[in-house]
Amino acid sequence: MSDVYAKPTTDAEPADPAALAEYTTLRLGGPAARCVAATSADEIVHRVREAHRRDEPVLVLAGGSNVVVGDAGFPGTVVLIRSRGFAVVAEDADTVTVRVEAGEPWDDLVAATVGNGWSGLECLSGIPGSAGATPIQNVGAYGQEVAERITGVQVYDRAEDRLTTVVAADCGFAYRGSIFKYSDRWVVLSVDFRLDRSPVSGPVRYAELARSLGVEVGDRVPLAAARDMVLTLRAGKGMVLDPADPDTWSVGSFFTNPVLDRAAYDLLRERAADIGEPPSWPCPGDLVKVSAAWLIDKAGFAKGHPGPGGTAISGKHTLALTNHSGTARTADLIALAREIRDGVHTRFAVPLHPEPVLINCTL
Ligand SMILES: Cc1cc2nc3c(=O)[nH]c(=O)nc-3n(C[C@H](O)[C@H](O)[C@H](O)COP(=O)(O)OP(=O)(O)OC[C@H]3O[C@@H](n4cnc5c(N)ncnc54)[C@H](O)[C@@H]3O)c2cc1C
Repeated sequence: MSDVYAKPTTDAEPADPAALAEYTTLRLGGPAARCVAATSADEIVHRVREAHRRDEPVLVLAGGSNVVVGDAGFPGTVVLIRSRGFAVVAEDADTVTVRVEAGEPWDDLVAATVGNGWSGLECLSGIPGSAGATPIQNVGAYGQEVAERITGVQVYDRAEDRLTTVVAADCGFAYRGSIFKYSDRWVVLSVDFRLDRSPVSGPVRYAELARSLGVEVGDRVPLAAARDMVLTLRAGKGMVLDPADPDTWSVGSFFTNPVLDRAAYDLLRERAADIGEPPSWPCPGDLVKVSAAWLIDKAGFAKGHPGPGGTAISGKHTLALTNHSGTARTADLIALAREIRDGVHTRFAVPLHPEPVLINCTL
């Protein structure tokens, strides 16, 4: 079992109050008043309840790969999710349902499913962080989203102080969102994924992936081939964590792809008439999703664009904002994000929204 978290903790020992920078992939964030590790679902609940009793705010943190923590840190208890493992809880001739502990490193799970001949998560290879965080923003990449596979999420409901299961239909899954995102109410303890018993992937939906695999969109490929190609493509974009590569000291995509109504989309096309057709994908409800990376690039922010304090746009991907020097402050990264957001708005009248959760800082 790999230890993928920015700063591994041992057993159930409370970690020292520490700069949260040590626990985030951006390597940013000030100190926490208190920081405790929880290695089982029971302990996660216990730690959260304990903080409640002390009337302290709680921040649940797992891989720290989708948070921007302010320089002032967090004035309460940070509960580090470090539970591990998964088990088959249901199966039939065609499918298996696995229940995965919240702290299980996501890519370890994906590797295991591919190894076992369980299809459904292979295109989500190489995404950092924990299994328990995947429902939070309905993690997705290369044509797959966890929402397609999650059947239920076991949670501790802080509002009602009880354990319960939120079935998939009640999770409010949307593009990079769910009822869990921006809510303090739910602590995810484990997640159920239903997967197909199949040596081949689902139909490949993502054009770049299909092209790289030498197949047509809609074709299926061996699970390991899909995983290997996704890992290769991601690595080329700095989207697999690499401690030696500052282009990966990011939260992945900093901005979501904007979803526009017709009027906003027409205005964008008008503003972009001199440079070409903006890449776009139709969405239900006569909405159009457009590429944030394209907007950022065409607004004049190229790969490698430097920001204050040693921050920079990744040299490998326009959407990843990095603490490139390793010595930046959160305020520097926020300043870079504002410059980009405002530049895109001025050029194209399209608002950009951050994908990570901002803690004690605002854009
Ligand atoms: C290089 C890189 C590439 C990435 N690529 C992708 C990608 O392709 N697609 C994609 O969707 N995302 C991507 N991400 C973002 C990120 O990896 C995912 O969102 C991941 O699921 C976050 O997991 P985490 O454990 O690090 O969550 P954290 O960053 O620790 O937490 C994120 C949010 O979830 C909450 N949270 C975490 N665990 C729990 C829990 N058990 N219960 C309740 N709340 C919880 C936290 O409070 C916080 O609000 C990428 C990030 C990086 C750094």
